[in-house]
Amino acid sequence: MNGKELDKKHCWHPFTQQDEWTAEDHDPLMITRGEGVWLYDSEGNGYIDGNSSIWTNIHGHQHPTITAAIKDQLDKVAHTSYLGFGHDLAAQLASQLVSHFPDSDLQRVFYSDDGSTAVECAMKMALQYRIQNGEPERVEFVAFTDAYHGDTLGAASLGGVEKFFSRFRKFGVTVHFVKNLDELCALPYPEKIAAAIIEPLVQGVNQMHVWENGMLAELREWTASQNIHLILDEVMTGFGRTGSMFACEQENVIPDFLCLAKGLTAGYLPMAATLVTETIYRGFLGGAERAFYYGHSYTANPLGCAAALANLKVFEDESTLAGVLEKSAYLAYKLSDLANENPHIKEVRRCGLVAGIELKSTALKLGEKVCIVARKYQLLTRPIANTIVILPPLSITRDEIDIMVTAIDQAIRDAV
Ligand SMILES: *Cc1c(COP(=O)(O)O)cnc(C)c1O
Repeated sequence: MNGKELDKKHCWHPFTQQDEWTAEDHDPLMITRGEGVWLYDSEGNGYIDGNSSIWTNIHGHQHPTITAAIKDQLDKVAHTSYLGFGHDLAAQLASQLVSHFPDSDLQRVFYSDDGSTAVECAMKMALQYRIQNGEPERVEFVAFTDAYHGDTLGAASLGGVEKFFSRFRKFGVTVHFVKNLDELCALPYPEKIAAAIIEPLVQGVNQMHVWENGMLAELREWTASQNIHLILDEVMTGFGRTGSMFACEQENVIPDFLCLAKGLTAGYLPMAATLVTETIYRGFLGGAERAFYYGHSYTANPLGCAAALANLKVFEDESTLAGVLEKSAYLAYKLSDLANENPHIKEVRRCGLVAGIELKSTALKLGEKVCIVARKYQLLTRPIANTIVILPPLSITRDEIDIMVTAIDQAIRDAV
């Protein structure tokens, strides 16, 4: 059997109805290679990686600096335990991550494996901190409607997307869902709340819903005034996507917890980090029973750390952030043209190099159809409902932005 046949026989894909995937007439696209923003399939066709391989890739595929850093580490050791030992790369990476928040209390880094575990670990820290520091009644959470914070059971209970999470909610923590700051401030028992969590500036899975300017700063002010910790889920927005290294910098907000994953290794290896304040960290000192009993086998994996350090180096070497500002202005201009000229578009939402193009029609699976047709025009991306997602590697050029936007325009016209 070839790869496609074996896949249909033995594999189970995420967020996928396998009936449809394994159907006789479904020919799965098998990716074999990537270079820069381009991905190539088993037939040799090239496509722009329009959603950065599910929002992970930052500087393009096979970037020489990142590839070399991983290979170099592989020649030393691929993995060692972080339980009972340390290593230089993890130490340097932690120091570089917190250096983005100088003169602040956010100075401690806890590593894990992916966005869900970064959130999971912030939740457990938030709960344990209250329980052992004299506030055992403060063990509830606040999250925003339609939010997405990952799929493990704890992170999923903070998720507001009904279709994914409603059936699991009763198994998780107590969460109050609010639409906006007014609803938040009206909560009857803020003294029961341990922490509030938000995707700053833009909610990715909520079809790229962009928060209004100043909302994050207001949220920070309110949570601080209520002694509620603020968890920022920058799993998608981190590492330059929105125009600054971290989205929270745009409103001068320093959270109590900062969750990072997807772009941390520039999309090369699974790895996550939860940044936390020294104040919270100190709440775990003083006796074995107060320690944080949490960890995963691959915590602080050296290959992941090597990739992450190389990622940060490329940001410097290539002035990536300056490039993002210039490219997002260009993308904004291209997308406003598209919205004016294509009669099937309801709205374009954008923040940095992240955009959602919502179709007027609510026909079932139209977004999916548009993305399948877009392959013919050299673009790979995925929709969220009838919103087409644009979230390319930050290394994309103007010419490649042109190809991407033209592909979407054509694909929408063909599919409608
Ligand atoms: C993707 C995502 C997660 C979950 O990360 P995984 O690595 O898929 O577990 C959490 N929060 C946000 C905002 C995300 O976009």
